[in-house]
Amino acid sequence: MKTIRFLKLALLFVAITGLLSFSPKSENMKPKPVAKYVFLFIGDGMGINHILITNEYLKMHGKAALSFTKLPYFALTTTNCIDSMRITDSAAAGTAIATGKKTKSGVLGMLPTTGEKFISIAEIAKQNNMKVGILSSVGMNHATPAAFYAKQKSRSMYKEIAEDMALSQFDLFAGGGLYAADQTELQYLLNNLKSNNYNFIFNETQFNKKEHSNKKIYYSVNADKIPGYAIPYRIDQKENDVVLADYVRFGIDYLENPNGFFMMAEGGKIDWSSHDNDGATTVQEVIDFDLAVQEALKFYEKHPDETLIVITADHETGGFSYGSREMAYKTDFLKIDNQKMSEEVFAEELTENKTETANKLVAKNFSLILKDDYFKTTSSKEISNQVTDSLNRSAGIWWTTGAHTGTAVLTYAIGVGSSQFTGFIDNTDIIKFIKKSAVIEIKQ
Ligand SMILES: [Zn+2]
Repeated sequence: MKTIRFLKLALLFVAITGLLSFSPKSENMKPKPVAKYVFLFIGDGMGINHILITNEYLKMHGKAALSFTKLPYFALTTTNCIDSMRITDSAAAGTAIATGKKTKSGVLGMLPTTGEKFISIAEIAKQNNMKVGILSSVGMNHATPAAFYAKQKSRSMYKEIAEDMALSQFDLFAGGGLYAADQTELQYLLNNLKSNNYNFIFNETQFNKKEHSNKKIYYSVNADKIPGYAIPYRIDQKENDVVLADYVRFGIDYLENPNGFFMMAEGGKIDWSSHDNDGATTVQEVIDFDLAVQEALKFYEKHPDETLIVITADHETGGFSYGSREMAYKTDFLKIDNQKMSEEVFAEELTENKTETANKLVAKNFSLILKDDYFKTTSSKEISNQVTDSLNRSAGIWWTTGAHTGTAVLTYAIGVGSSQFTGFIDNTDIIKFIKKSAVIEIKQ
C-alpha cells in the first residue's frame, strides 16, 4: 500500500512539475520590446477641428485621410498651463510635453518662481546614448523646439535660447533658421554654433553620411538669412522648396545608428495661419505636417518592433470651427481651393503689385468679386484679412479667436508602447509613456 501511495505521490509530483515547465515561462523570457527609435511630432496649434476639416476636405477631393488619423491608438489630451489664465502658449505647452512638468506661459524648461530647471526627454535620450534630432518648419530657437533644450525665463530671449541650443550638443537641428535681433547677432549665433562643433548644411547635396557621421549638424536652407526663420507655407511653396518632410527624411538617414534615436519634428506654421484665421492655408499646413509624419511611418514599416511614433499638438489655435453662422448646416470646403496664396503673402502682393487694382488681384487669387469701394479705406493687411474671412465664411469655416484656446487636442500613437495612449490624458503624460516605451533613465 505504502509503495502504491508513494507511486501516486511521485506521479502527482511529476505531473505538477511538468505543468509548471509547460507554463508560458518561455513567453515571459522573451525580451520586452523597447522603442529604440522614437518620433514625436507636434502640430503647433492643431486642434481637433483642424484635423476633421482637413480630412473632410481630402475626402471631397477623393483623397485618403490624414495618415496619422488611421493610427491604432489616440487619446484626448488637455493642454492647460499653470497660469491663472489657464490657456497655454507654445513655450509652456512645449515644456509640459518635453519635460512632463507644467510652467507659466512664455517660460521654457524651468519654473520661474523657484528657478528649478527641468530635464527634457531629448536630454534623457542623449544621456542614454541615443542620437537626438530637433526639427521644425519654423525657427530652431522658437518656443516649441526650444522647449527640448533651453531653460529660459522668456521665450523671446532668442539669443540666450540659441546659446542653449549650441550647448545641448544634440546631433541634428533642421528646419527654419534662427531668430536674431539683427545681422550682427545672427552672425554671432552662427559662429557660436560653429565653435560648438556644428557643421552647416544648406542643402542635402552637401551632406555625406560617412564624412558627417560623428559631427553635429545644423541644416537649414535659411541658415544665414534675415528674416529667414521659417519655411514657406505649403500653399506658397515652389517646386524645389525644402519642406518638413524633407528634413524628417534627412533626419532619419542621419540619425539611424545602433543605439537608436529620438526625433522631435514640429509643424510650426499650422499655428501661424490659425492666428491669421486663414482656413485654406491652415488646411494645407495640416497636410504638409502629415507628409512629414508619413516619412516616419515608412521607417516604422521597416522597424515595427523597435519604433514608437507619437503625434500630438501643443494647443489649439484660433477656435477653428466646423460650421459658420452664415452657412449653418451647409459647408462647402472645396471653396477654399479658390485661394491661391496665404493671407500673409497676399497682403505683400497687394502692397507690391500697384499696377493692378486690389479687386482685380482679389478676383485672380480668391475668385471673389468685390466692389471697388470695398478697398478704399483699408490697408493691404486688412484687405487680405477681410477677403480670407469672406472666403472662410462661404466655405462654412469659422474662427472664434485670433489667439489660442483651451480645448483638448488629440495625441495619436503607433508602435512599441503605443497602447498607453488612450482615454483622457494630460500633455505631461506623453513623456511618461515615451520613457516607459523606450526604457530610458535619467542618469544622476
Ligand atoms: Zn500660437
